[in-house]
Amino acid sequence: MINTSYTKYDMNYVSTRDENTQINTFSEVLLSGLAQDGGLFIPEIYPFIDHETLKKYKTLSYAEIAYTIIEKFVGESIPKKDLEEILNKTYTKTKFKDSKITPIKKLYNNIYLQDLSLGPSLAFKDLAMQFLGNIIEYELTKQNKVLTILGASSGDTVSAAEEAMRSKERINVVMLTPKEGMSEFQKAQAGTILDKNIFNISVDGTFDTCQDIVKEVNKDIEFKQKYSIGAVNSINWGRICAQIVYYFYGYLNTVDTVGEPLDVIVPSGNFGNMLAGYIAKQMGLPIRKLIIATNENKVLDILFKTGVYKQETVITTSSPSMDISKASNFERLLYDCLKRDAKQCSKLMKEFESKKEINLSDLITTLKEEHEFSSDSSTHEDRIKTIKTIYKDTKIIIDPHTAAAIHVAIKNKESDIPMLCMETAKATKFETTIQESIGTIPKREKGFENIESKKQKFYNVDSNASAIKDFIKDNIKL
Ligand SMILES: *Cc1c(COP(=O)(O)O)cnc(C)c1O
Repeated sequence: MINTSYTKYDMNYVSTRDENTQINTFSEVLLSGLAQDGGLFIPEIYPFIDHETLKKYKTLSYAEIAYTIIEKFVGESIPKKDLEEILNKTYTKTKFKDSKITPIKKLYNNIYLQDLSLGPSLAFKDLAMQFLGNIIEYELTKQNKVLTILGASSGDTVSAAEEAMRSKERINVVMLTPKEGMSEFQKAQAGTILDKNIFNISVDGTFDTCQDIVKEVNKDIEFKQKYSIGAVNSINWGRICAQIVYYFYGYLNTVDTVGEPLDVIVPSGNFGNMLAGYIAKQMGLPIRKLIIATNENKVLDILFKTGVYKQETVITTSSPSMDISKASNFERLLYDCLKRDAKQCSKLMKEFESKKEINLSDLITTLKEEHEFSSDSSTHEDRIKTIKTIYKDTKIIIDPHTAAAIHVAIKNKESDIPMLCMETAKATKFETTIQESIGTIPKREKGFENIESKKQKFYNVDSNASAIKDFIKDNIKL
């Protein structure tokens, strides 16, 4: 499928829906969000790292591993020295409160927890977003451009993106959030960011309504170009690429010897986090099982159990960042499973978009066999119980998203193979659920003590694409 005659750089990107394999560089992909054909950008090949080389990474710092991995995806489109500087500036103890950036704790024999939630918004999205903020700023300066980031989120993406972009001169951020589903704390995190380049919009509807509006705006090519619309939601390749890093760091800092198997369990929504794990495995990281943990919104669990990818009505749960009715990043995995046949991928995705359901049972069977994917779900009760158990046994207070993963880990533990669960948010963001579970709430992190009582700003705009376009026309100065 690789058409070398089009090669621009040593690392090129194609769209999952483009049969003519139009080639893009990392820098182009970084600023453009969705491809023009509605597909997602994906590298033409995954770089491979053998075990001998991997062994040498065992002593590297987080920023050094980040450089080693991300450099391969950036290719020649950014000078190595500049990239190294950006990464050293991104993954610091000051930002992430721990020099390990994503430290690993042992919960039980063979169950580990990798803390991905030490960044400024207290969720794992900071790990990618802080990198994006810095690399996008670098690119915009280099190309003398400005950017309007348009995104949708049911929670953590908003504050992570806004924290990462708040001081950046060339960037405006317009974020759509559903009126219901976010915790008071999450709302306050976003709403209290009052910088003049940050626009929080409150939309009647669910996360999917928000995401559909973003997709719709992006289909207007002329508008998109005029207002330099870009994306930082989990479809942005720059984010996926930064997320691959912590799988390498997590693996290297959990196993004793490189080559030993490790299962990873990921609380999943839009499938960005797990996709990064799958790519890490494709790159040669000896992950054994890729285990998807969902909440009551079981689209992915049903897909991986039955092969039917079916859009469902969203249920608002106690793990709101996993409340989705479809998993946008699944398209990238689908593309790989179709042996990178963009025509077929485009056909299936369009069928899914119109019928809200496709049957992929043969493909999923192959996928499960070849890559050892599996899935399971949790209910509110399961998560409440898990938070309680972990608190009783370890004194650690986990959040409801992390609980979704640990619930699945404990339930599916079957051998001596270690399991690494991803801690995706801090419990302090979800005090109501924590109170219900253990009868007390965690101590607020520094800087978050009275966040709900601080001044907040949200704009109310009608929930359709043309209203959002009008808002951008009125508010974004070019
Ligand atoms: C975004 C998010 C998830 C879901 O991650 P995906 O990459 O969308 O699958 C899980 N937990 C938390 C806390 C999140 O913020």
